[in-house]
Amino acid sequence: MHELAICQSLMNQVESIALERDAQSVTSIVVGMGPLSGVEAQLLKNAYPIASAGTIAEHAELIIENLPIRVKCSSCGCESDALPNKLVCKTCGDWRTTLISGDELMLMSVELEKTKAEKPQTLH
Ligand SMILES: [Zn+2]
Repeated sequence: MHELAICQSLMNQVESIALERDAQSVTSIVVGMGPLSGVEAQLLKNAYPIASAGTIAEHAELIIENLPIRVKCSSCGCESDALPNKLVCKTCGDWRTTLISGDELMLMSVELEKTKAEKPQTLH
């Protein structure tokens, strides 16, 4: 399963961030996903509980943010938004465009919990 492998590599990133920051647990994970990433958001969500089981992010919420498709025109040089099935320049209508974003899948942010550090200290 393609999505499970992706989810597991995201978990590795989340775990190393959590370790680095000395966190007790992870509360939420935000993943940015472009429509051309070739990954189904629903399948990623289904794979998440399997990939996160036993990790520091076991109880974290997975939030998927949809990233826009952006193209740069080879003809007029403009950058514009595009549709997955129509990667044309919005300014001049040329098909000769280069994809700037829309095919990525990346970890955008991680919310961590540090329960130990939050304990109030009593002075005597
Ligand atoms: Zn153009």
